[in-house]
This record gives sequence, structure tokens and C-alpha cells, in this order.
Amino acid sequence: MPEPGYRPPGFSVKVIVVSGGVISGLGKGITTSSLGRLLKARRIPVTIVKIDPYLNVDAGTMNPYQHGEVFVLKDGTEADLDLGNYERFLGQELDGAHNLTTGKIYRTVIERERRGEYLGNTVQIIPHVTGEIKRCIRDVAKATGAEVVLVEVGGTVGDIESMPFLEALRELSYELGEGRMAFVHTTLVPFVGAVGEAKTKPTQHSVRELRAIGIRPNLIVARGAAPLAPDIKTKISLFCDVPPEAVISVPDQSSIYEVPLVLEAQGVGGFLSRLLGLPAGEPDYAEWREFLATYRADRATVEVAIVGKYTELHDAYLSHIEAFHHVQGRLGATVHLSWIDAEDLPRDPAALARVRRAGALLVPGGFGARGAEGKLLAIELARSQGIPFLGVCYGFQMAAVEFARHELGLVAANTTEIDPHGADPVVCLLEAQQGLHEMGGTMRLGAQPVLLTAGSRAAQAYGRTEIEERHRHRYEINPAYVDRLRAGGLVATGRAPDGRIEVLELADHPFFVGVQYHPEFRSRPEAPHPLYLALVRAALARKEVPPPAAAAPARA
Ligand code: GLN
Repeated sequence: MPEPGYRPPGFSVKVIVVSGGVISGLGKGITTSSLGRLLKARRIPVTIVKIDPYLNVDAGTMNPYQHGEVFVLKDGTEADLDLGNYERFLGQELDGAHNLTTGKIYRTVIERERRGEYLGNTVQIIPHVTGEIKRCIRDVAKATGAEVVLVEVGGTVGDIESMPFLEALRELSYELGEGRMAFVHTTLVPFVGAVGEAKTKPTQHSVRELRAIGIRPNLIVARGAAPLAPDIKTKISLFCDVPPEAVISVPDQSSIYEVPLVLEAQGVGGFLSRLLGLPAGEPDYAEWREFLATYRADRATVEVAIVGKYTELHDAYLSHIEAFHHVQGRLGATVHLSWIDAEDLPRDPAALARVRRAGALLVPGGFGARGAEGKLLAIELARSQGIPFLGVCYGFQMAAVEFARHELGLVAANTTEIDPHGADPVVCLLEAQQGLHEMGGTMRLGAQPVLLTAGSRAAQAYGRTEIEERHRHRYEINPAYVDRLRAGGLVATGRAPDGRIEVLELADHPFFVGVQYHPEFRSRPEAPHPLYLALVRAALARKEVPPPAAAAPARA
């Protein structure tokens, strides 16, 4: 019986599945992204789909402490952070169709069932759910015109949650036929004991688990602290039934951007090309190598303080971290990130001293009252001491609140997110948000145009006045305060076409820019984001010409 959603192949896509074994957190996303880069370097049209086997429809409602940052796509999809890695490694923008979740798949199947589209049949995981999964993957191939679709399966093989997805991919390999699908399995090879003996047993077990569901891996990517010795590779090859050249060792790297070259050096590009009958051209890594060479140049150092409330989990700010890596790869100046928990600032003078010593300050996005007072203290310090500052989303809103309180004398200024009935709601709920109760996918999301004032710092950084950036917010600068902010010196230099404030900056400061949108999502190794570049450049310039020693102390 052909399952609903099934269409006979008829088109020539090739699929590479990346699964994971032993434990999660092995850098499967980086492996997948790097495999994508290998194909891209060979000019093969490629795209990537991430499968997240959880019941959430998307990552938008999830706490950053559980899965790290929510990565916003241009179409407004709130996606898993791996989508950010894919975009950065491929240099391509993806949309929501590239992030499948159990919740999304089941929602579609159940909606179809309610419309009676299954014509009286019993609706089951096989073939209906698996059919929907395959349909989604085929649709991505069709919509993008990719010759190869990489599919990363989140979680580890053996999880109940990922079963329907692996079954769908097994079916797909049968339907696509010989030589059209490859399975890459990422595992951990731990080193134990005083002599650091490499242990292959966990890999053997997880490959056996994969085989039990009818999937035979073609390539094993072994992660671990150190490179695998040849005899260990041979052992894995023997036990896991793959040729020795298909056992790839990826030891920890100083930069994730090394991984494509680590794979390439072990012949992975050629191996996959032969396996899938792809054109075998010479790969081109010219720009990529240039990025890495500059990244390591260490011509100067600069310290950027990041003040947020999820600072223990750096994944919560992944795209910001990567944006600074991209800047390092462009300027050749080593960027050290100094993580400061916003909640420490009001109670710990040492934490505030760390902000004071930093070369620049970034206050990223966030939600709610926790940590807000600390962010205000850090921003006040940056503003009054001439420390280059970039405020992103909540950081931008907080910059307006801080300015209103301390420069305009509006002591009760706040965002209505924290103080719904305060005297001076400098930041207030977007009109479209009023009366909304559903949480998922309801913020102002995705790419929106922004018009910059010619000659402003923002326009100078971008080198143009018409830009498009990704958004994720419910609140905005209250238009009723814009004139007063401007009179005080905090000027709106970027607006949405409807007039909404998108950028605020201080003219009389080395670099003090706040943006309502999220620039971090669009930074790429080969194209660092202009605002992060401008921030670090300002910090470097300030280092060369130190501020006068007698600068007025901040209020704090
Ligand atoms: N909490 C703020 C808002 O909803 C900022 C959101 C953010 O930083 N992403 O507008």
C-alpha cells in the first residue's frame, strides 16, 4: 500500500543522513555543517535539514538552558541552534522547512486526519507519520533544487523519540535506490585510564543498534579528545563493517571552522563523492583557509564583556560567540569574551569592575525582570565611560530605559515587560501583541526591512542605508519618548518602514549602538556582521588611544 505523502522518486536527489551514537553533545551539528561545506567546496548544490525528535512544534517556547539559543530564520521560524551552524558553514539562508520536529510532523498528520484526508484508514506511525517525514525531506529537495540533502537526526540512536525518523530514512534509502543515500554515524571514542586507552566498545554497540533498525553506516565519524591511532581505526573498521578509509577521526579542535579541513584531510569529500556518484572536482577552500589564517594571526587582543542571564550556558548566546569569531577571522585580533552574570552586577563590585576593564560591552537579548537591573548598570558604565557598546533586542531596550532614567531624569522609566503600570513606559508592548495569549510563534519574527539614517554610525558600519535583519520581540520603544530621547542625545537612526524604532545611537560616544533586531543571526565566517566588526574596531581604536585618565566615574 503506498503511504499517504509517498511519491515515486522520479527526481534525482541524494541524501546523506547524520546520526549520533553513545552520547549527545558530540558536535553532530558541526559534523553535518562541515560535510555540507565539503560539498559546497565542490560546487555541489547542497542543503541541510535538522530533525529534532521532540514534541514541541518549534524551539520558540523552549528555555535556552535546555537547548541553547533559539535561532531565528528569515521566515520567522524559531529554530534549533544547529540551523545557525548550517547557515554559517554553507553561507546560505534556510527557512522553517529545514527544521522538522515530532510536534510539527504529528500536527500535520493529525490535521489531515481531522479533515478526513486518510479516507477512513487507521492512521499509524508507519506509514503515515513516516510518509509525512519523507514528504518533508523531498519537499526541501524540490524547493531548494539541492542535489544533496544532508539530514541530521537529533538525539542518539536508540532513543524512542527518534525511531519514526530513522525508520522513515531507512524507507527513503530503499525508495531512492542504490548509491543515492549515505549514512554517517557520529560516535564517541573515549580515552580511559592513566595511559589514555581508546575504547571502541561504545561505538560497536551503537552501530549494532543502528543495524538492528536496518541501517548500515557508510562512514563512522569518531569524536574524542585526541586523534585515533591507526590500529583503533582498523578495529572500528573491522567491527563496524566499513572500509578503513571510512573511519574518520575528529579530535577536539581549537575552532569549529577547522572541522571541514580535518574531514577533507582524511579523504571524506572524495569518499562521499565516489559513494554517491557526485562530480569529483577539486574542492575550493581559498576563502575558508584565509579566514582561518587571519583567525589565528593574534595581531592584537580585545576583551568583550557579555552581560546576560544565561551566561553559564554559552550555547544560549551561540550566534553572538560565532559573530565574534567571524570578526577575529577578519581583523586578526583575538577576541576574548568575558562572561558576566547580570544578576551579579548590583551586588558584586568585582563584576562591575570587569565591565569597566573590558574593551567593549555586548548586552544580548533576553526576557523578563531577572538580571535587568544589572544590565542597566553595565550599560550606564559603558555610556558614561566611553566603552564601545552594542545592545541587541532586550539590550537595546534596556539602553533606552537607562538613558531615560539617568539622562532624562525619568526615574521610573522601564519596560512594561517588567513594570506594566509604571509612570514612564519607555518600552511598551507592540500593538499587534495586545490581547495575544498563544506563546508559540507569536512574536514579531523574522526578516524585516530597516531604513538607516545616512551618515549615522549604523549606516557607516553597514555601508548602506537599506538593510534587512531578523527580529524576535514583543515590545518596542514607545514612540511617545522618541523626541525626548533625541533631545537628550540618544537618536533613532534606524526605523522600520512603518516608523517603528529599530536603531538608537549616541552621537557623542566612540560607539554606542542599540538595535531592536538580532544582527548575530546573519554573521558568517566569510562575511562578519558589520555591527560586530564596528564594535571590535572601536574597542581596538580605544586601546590605541586610551581614554583620559580623569574620566568622570560612573554613578554606580
Ligand atoms: N523581551 C523583549 C521583547 O520581547 C526582548 C526580546 C529579545 O531580546 N529577543 O521585546
